[in-house]
Amino acid sequence: MPELPEVEALSAFLSQRLTGRVIARVQPVAISALKTYDPPVTALEGRTVGSVTRHGKFLDIEAGGLHLVVHLARAGWLRWKDRLPAEPPRPGPRNPLALRVRLAGEAGDGFDLTEAGTRKGLAVHVVADPEEVPGVAGLGPDPLDPGFTLDRFAALLRGDRRRLKGVLRDQGVLAGVGNAYSDEVLHAARMSPYKQASALSGEETARLYEALGGTLREAVERSRGLAAGELKAEKKLGLRVHGRTGQPCPVCGDTVREVSFVDSSLQYCPTCQTGGRPLADRRLSRLLK
Ligand SMILES: [Zn+2]
Repeated sequence: MPELPEVEALSAFLSQRLTGRVIARVQPVAISALKTYDPPVTALEGRTVGSVTRHGKFLDIEAGGLHLVVHLARAGWLRWKDRLPAEPPRPGPRNPLALRVRLAGEAGDGFDLTEAGTRKGLAVHVVADPEEVPGVAGLGPDPLDPGFTLDRFAALLRGDRRRLKGVLRDQGVLAGVGNAYSDEVLHAARMSPYKQASALSGEETARLYEALGGTLREAVERSRGLAAGELKAEKKLGLRVHGRTGQPCPVCGDTVREVSFVDSSLQYCPTCQTGGRPLADRRLSRLLK
Protein backbone atom coordinates (compact mmCIF):
# COMPACT_ATOMS: atom_id res chain seq x y z
CA MET A 1 0.00 0.00 0.00
CA PRO A 2 1.41 3.39 -0.95
CA GLU A 3 1.90 5.61 2.11
CA LEU A 4 2.94 9.22 2.62
CA PRO A 5 6.39 9.05 0.91
CA GLU A 6 5.12 7.22 -2.18
CA VAL A 7 2.02 9.42 -2.55
CA GLU A 8 4.23 12.49 -2.07
CA ALA A 9 6.54 11.31 -4.87
CA LEU A 10 3.57 10.37 -7.04
CA SER A 11 2.05 13.83 -6.62
CA ALA A 12 5.38 15.45 -7.57
CA PHE A 13 5.68 13.17 -10.60
CA LEU A 14 2.13 13.98 -11.72
CA SER A 15 2.49 17.67 -10.98
CA GLN A 16 5.27 17.87 -13.59
CA ARG A 17 3.28 16.00 -16.20
CA LEU A 18 -0.26 17.25 -15.61
CA THR A 19 -0.06 20.91 -14.59
CA GLY A 20 -1.31 23.09 -17.42
CA ARG A 21 -2.63 20.14 -19.42
CA VAL A 22 -6.26 19.71 -20.46
CA ILE A 23 -8.11 16.52 -19.51
CA ALA A 24 -9.67 15.09 -22.67
CA ARG A 25 -11.41 11.93 -21.46
CA VAL A 26 -12.14 10.26 -18.13
CA GLN A 27 -13.19 6.64 -18.58
CA PRO A 28 -14.33 4.71 -15.51
CA VAL A 29 -13.93 0.95 -15.90
CA ALA A 30 -14.55 -0.40 -12.37
CA ILE A 31 -17.70 1.46 -11.37
CA SER A 32 -17.29 0.30 -7.75
CA ALA A 33 -14.25 2.60 -7.43
CA LEU A 34 -16.41 5.71 -7.98
CA LYS A 35 -17.53 7.07 -4.61
CA THR A 36 -19.29 10.21 -5.88
CA TYR A 37 -21.66 10.66 -8.81
CA ASP A 38 -22.52 14.38 -8.73
CA PRO A 39 -20.67 15.93 -10.49
CA PRO A 40 -19.92 12.92 -12.73
CA VAL A 41 -16.26 12.07 -13.48
CA THR A 42 -16.83 13.27 -17.04
CA ALA A 43 -17.28 16.81 -15.63
CA LEU A 44 -13.46 16.90 -15.52
CA GLU A 45 -13.27 16.69 -19.31
CA GLY A 46 -12.17 19.93 -20.95
CA ARG A 47 -10.74 21.34 -17.70
CA THR A 48 -7.10 22.37 -17.23
CA VAL A 49 -5.10 20.81 -14.38
CA GLY A 50 -4.03 23.54 -11.96
CA SER A 51 -2.18 21.52 -9.33
CA VAL A 52 -1.49 18.06 -7.97
CA THR A 53 -1.19 17.74 -4.19
CA ARG A 54 -1.49 15.21 -1.38
CA HIS A 55 -3.63 14.93 1.75
CA GLY A 56 -2.27 12.08 3.86
CA LYS A 57 -2.43 9.10 1.51
CA PHE A 58 -4.96 10.81 -0.79
CA LEU A 59 -3.88 12.19 -4.16
CA ASP A 60 -5.65 15.40 -5.24
CA ILE A 61 -5.68 16.50 -8.89
CA GLU A 62 -7.31 19.92 -9.20
CA ALA A 63 -8.69 20.87 -12.60
CA GLY A 64 -10.78 23.96 -13.28
CA GLY A 65 -12.29 24.13 -9.78
CA LEU A 66 -13.00 20.40 -9.48
CA HIS A 67 -10.85 17.90 -7.56
CA LEU A 68 -10.21 14.31 -8.55
CA VAL A 69 -9.35 12.81 -5.17
CA VAL A 70 -7.92 9.28 -5.25
CA HIS A 71 -7.16 6.84 -2.44
CA LEU A 72 -5.09 3.95 -3.78
CA ALA A 73 -5.87 1.65 -0.83
CA ARG A 74 -4.17 -1.72 -0.44
CA ALA A 75 -3.50 -2.77 -4.02
CA GLY A 76 -4.26 0.28 -6.13
CA TRP A 77 -1.68 2.01 -8.29
CA LEU A 78 -1.27 4.72 -10.88
CA ARG A 79 0.38 3.84 -14.17
CA TRP A 80 1.57 6.65 -16.39
CA LYS A 81 1.38 5.96 -20.14
CA ASP A 82 3.17 8.03 -22.74
CA ARG A 83 0.74 6.61 -25.26
CA LEU A 84 -2.59 5.17 -24.17
CA PRO A 85 -4.24 2.59 -26.45
CA ALA A 86 -6.76 4.15 -28.84
CA GLU A 87 -9.48 1.56 -28.22
CA PRO A 88 -11.78 2.10 -25.20
CA PRO A 89 -10.79 0.22 -22.05
CA ARG A 90 -12.88 -2.87 -21.33
CA PRO A 91 -13.49 -4.38 -17.90
CA GLY A 92 -12.71 -8.05 -17.46
CA PRO A 93 -11.58 -10.56 -14.86
CA ARG A 94 -7.93 -10.24 -15.94
CA ASN A 95 -7.95 -6.48 -16.38
CA PRO A 96 -7.13 -4.62 -13.16
CA LEU A 97 -7.99 -1.24 -14.76
CA ALA A 98 -10.30 0.96 -12.67
CA LEU A 99 -10.16 4.36 -14.38
CA ARG A 100 -8.39 5.90 -17.37
CA VAL A 101 -7.57 9.59 -17.78
CA ARG A 102 -6.51 10.76 -21.22
CA LEU A 103 -4.97 14.17 -21.79
CA ALA A 104 -5.71 16.40 -24.75
CA GLY A 105 -3.05 16.62 -27.44
CA GLU A 106 -1.33 14.64 -30.15
CA ALA A 107 0.71 12.42 -27.84
CA GLY A 108 -2.26 10.49 -26.43
CA ASP A 109 -0.65 10.34 -22.98
CA GLY A 110 -2.37 9.97 -19.62
CA PHE A 111 -2.69 7.51 -16.79
CA ASP A 112 -4.52 4.42 -15.64
CA LEU A 113 -5.63 3.73 -12.09
CA THR A 114 -5.36 0.00 -11.51
CA GLU A 115 -6.20 -2.30 -8.66
CA ALA A 116 -5.08 -5.89 -8.33
CA GLY A 117 -6.67 -8.58 -6.17
CA THR A 118 -10.21 -9.30 -5.08
CA ARG A 119 -10.39 -7.01 -2.02
CA LYS A 120 -11.27 -3.76 -3.74
CA GLY A 121 -10.58 -0.55 -1.86
CA LEU A 122 -9.48 1.96 -4.51
CA ALA A 123 -11.65 5.07 -4.13
CA VAL A 124 -12.16 7.88 -6.65
CA HIS A 125 -14.05 11.07 -5.77
CA VAL A 126 -14.93 14.12 -7.85
CA VAL A 127 -15.68 17.06 -5.55
CA ALA A 128 -15.59 20.85 -5.49
CA ASP A 129 -13.68 20.80 -2.19
CA PRO A 130 -11.40 17.93 -0.99
CA GLU A 131 -12.88 18.35 2.49
CA GLU A 132 -16.09 16.82 1.11
CA VAL A 133 -14.27 13.47 1.10
CA PRO A 134 -14.85 12.02 4.60
CA GLY A 135 -11.41 10.37 4.72
CA VAL A 136 -9.75 13.74 3.97
CA ALA A 137 -11.90 15.75 6.38
CA GLY A 138 -11.04 13.34 9.21
CA LEU A 139 -7.25 13.45 8.73
CA GLY A 140 -4.95 14.33 11.60
CA PRO A 141 -1.94 16.63 11.07
CA ASP A 142 0.63 15.82 8.40
CA PRO A 143 3.94 14.76 10.02
CA LEU A 144 5.91 16.62 7.31
CA ASP A 145 4.05 19.89 7.84
CA PRO A 146 6.48 22.53 9.20
CA GLY A 147 3.88 23.35 11.88
CA PHE A 148 3.96 19.78 13.20
CA THR A 149 6.11 20.39 16.26
CA LEU A 150 7.18 18.11 19.11
CA ASP A 151 4.58 19.82 21.32
CA ARG A 152 1.80 19.00 18.88
CA PHE A 153 2.97 15.40 18.66
CA ALA A 154 3.13 15.09 22.45
CA ALA A 155 -0.43 16.46 22.70
CA LEU A 156 -1.65 13.78 20.27
CA LEU A 157 -0.19 10.94 22.34
CA ARG A 158 -1.25 12.32 25.72
CA GLY A 159 -4.12 10.33 27.17
CA ASP A 160 -4.15 7.80 24.30
CA ARG A 161 -4.06 4.39 25.97
CA ARG A 162 -3.73 2.44 22.74
CA ARG A 163 -0.54 0.71 21.62
CA LEU A 164 1.90 2.78 19.56
CA LYS A 165 1.50 0.60 16.48
CA GLY A 166 -2.24 1.35 16.39
CA VAL A 167 -1.85 5.06 17.18
CA LEU A 168 0.80 5.79 14.53
CA ARG A 169 -1.23 4.35 11.66
CA ASP A 170 -4.53 5.91 12.76
CA GLN A 171 -5.22 8.50 10.01
CA GLY A 172 -7.24 10.60 12.44
CA VAL A 173 -4.12 11.01 14.62
CA LEU A 174 -1.46 11.33 11.89
CA ALA A 175 -2.06 11.69 8.17
CA GLY A 176 -0.18 9.36 5.84
CA VAL A 177 1.52 6.74 8.02
CA GLY A 178 0.36 3.19 7.37
CA ASN A 179 1.36 -0.35 8.20
CA ALA A 180 4.84 -0.21 6.65
CA TYR A 181 6.13 3.13 7.93
CA SER A 182 4.69 2.63 11.42
CA ASP A 183 6.90 -0.49 11.66
CA GLU A 184 9.88 1.49 10.33
CA VAL A 185 9.35 4.47 12.66
CA LEU A 186 9.11 2.22 15.74
CA HIS A 187 12.27 0.39 14.69
CA ALA A 188 14.14 3.67 14.20
CA ALA A 189 12.92 4.84 17.63
CA ARG A 190 13.94 1.49 19.19
CA MET A 191 10.48 1.11 20.72
CA SER A 192 8.08 -1.77 21.18
CA PRO A 193 5.01 -1.59 18.93
CA TYR A 194 3.01 -2.73 21.98
CA LYS A 195 4.07 0.22 24.14
CA GLN A 196 1.14 2.34 25.31
CA ALA A 197 1.17 5.85 23.79
CA SER A 198 0.19 7.62 27.02
CA ALA A 199 3.00 5.86 28.91
CA LEU A 200 5.82 7.54 26.95
CA SER A 201 8.25 9.71 28.89
CA GLY A 202 9.28 13.12 27.56
CA GLU A 203 12.54 11.68 26.27
CA GLU A 204 10.75 8.81 24.54
CA THR A 205 8.21 11.16 22.94
CA ALA A 206 11.07 13.26 21.54
CA ARG A 207 12.85 10.12 20.25
CA LEU A 208 9.67 8.90 18.53
CA TYR A 209 9.07 12.36 17.04
CA GLU A 210 12.60 12.41 15.59
CA ALA A 211 12.20 8.87 14.22
CA LEU A 212 8.85 9.78 12.64
CA GLY A 213 10.14 12.85 10.80
CA GLY A 214 13.49 11.27 9.96
CA THR A 215 12.07 8.04 8.53
CA LEU A 216 9.48 9.81 6.40
CA ARG A 217 11.83 12.53 5.13
CA GLU A 218 14.44 9.92 4.22
CA ALA A 219 11.84 7.90 2.30
CA VAL A 220 10.55 11.00 0.49
CA GLU A 221 14.13 11.92 -0.42
CA ARG A 222 14.79 8.46 -1.84
CA SER A 223 11.57 8.55 -3.88
CA ARG A 224 12.05 12.07 -5.22
CA GLY A 225 12.35 12.22 -8.96
CA LEU A 226 11.45 8.58 -9.48
CA ALA A 227 8.86 7.69 -12.08
CA ALA A 228 5.55 6.24 -10.89
CA GLY A 229 6.60 2.77 -12.05
CA GLU A 230 9.75 2.74 -9.90
CA LEU A 231 8.26 3.77 -6.57
CA LYS A 232 7.11 0.38 -5.31
CA ALA A 233 10.53 -1.24 -5.72
CA GLU A 234 12.22 1.75 -4.08
CA LYS A 235 9.88 1.57 -1.08
CA LYS A 236 10.68 -2.11 -0.60
CA LEU A 237 14.44 -1.51 -0.81
CA GLY A 238 14.37 1.16 1.86
CA LEU A 239 12.49 -0.83 4.51
CA ARG A 240 14.49 -2.21 7.45
CA VAL A 241 11.95 -4.42 9.22
CA HIS A 242 8.59 -4.17 7.49
CA GLY A 243 7.95 -7.18 5.24
CA ARG A 244 11.35 -8.66 6.20
CA THR A 245 10.32 -11.47 8.59
CA GLY A 246 13.16 -13.97 9.06
CA GLN A 247 15.81 -11.67 7.59
CA PRO A 248 18.59 -10.05 9.62
CA CYS A 249 18.00 -6.61 11.14
CA PRO A 250 20.31 -4.21 9.24
CA VAL A 251 21.17 -2.46 12.53
CA CYS A 252 22.02 -5.35 14.89
CA GLY A 253 21.79 -8.58 12.89
CA ASP A 254 19.06 -10.16 15.02
CA THR A 255 16.26 -11.91 13.10
CA VAL A 256 13.27 -9.74 12.23
CA ARG A 257 10.10 -11.21 13.73
CA GLU A 258 6.43 -10.96 12.92
CA VAL A 259 3.34 -10.90 15.09
CA SER A 260 -0.32 -10.45 14.16
CA PHE A 261 -1.88 -7.09 14.93
CA VAL A 262 -5.61 -6.37 14.48
CA ASP A 263 -6.34 -7.08 10.80
CA SER A 264 -2.76 -7.52 9.62
CA SER A 265 0.71 -8.25 10.99
CA LEU A 266 3.65 -6.19 12.14
CA GLN A 267 7.39 -6.77 11.93
CA TYR A 268 9.99 -5.73 14.50
CA CYS A 269 13.49 -6.50 15.75
CA PRO A 270 13.54 -7.97 19.30
CA THR A 271 17.08 -6.75 20.08
CA CYS A 272 16.44 -3.19 18.88
CA GLN A 273 12.89 -2.83 20.15
CA THR A 274 11.76 -5.22 22.87
CA GLY A 275 14.83 -5.93 25.01
CA GLY A 276 15.48 -9.15 23.10
CA ARG A 277 12.13 -10.70 24.05
CA PRO A 278 9.76 -11.82 21.29
CA LEU A 279 6.26 -10.29 21.51
CA ALA A 280 3.41 -12.65 22.34
CA ASP A 281 1.03 -13.22 19.49
CA ARG A 282 -2.17 -12.18 21.18
CA ARG A 283 -4.43 -13.64 18.52
CA LEU A 284 -2.67 -16.99 18.79
CA SER A 285 -2.61 -17.05 22.60
CA ARG A 286 -6.33 -16.26 22.67
CA LEU A 287 -7.00 -19.26 20.44
CA LEU A 288 -4.97 -21.53 22.70
CA LYS A 289 -6.82 -20.54 25.88
ZN1 LIG B 1 17.93 -4.87 15.37
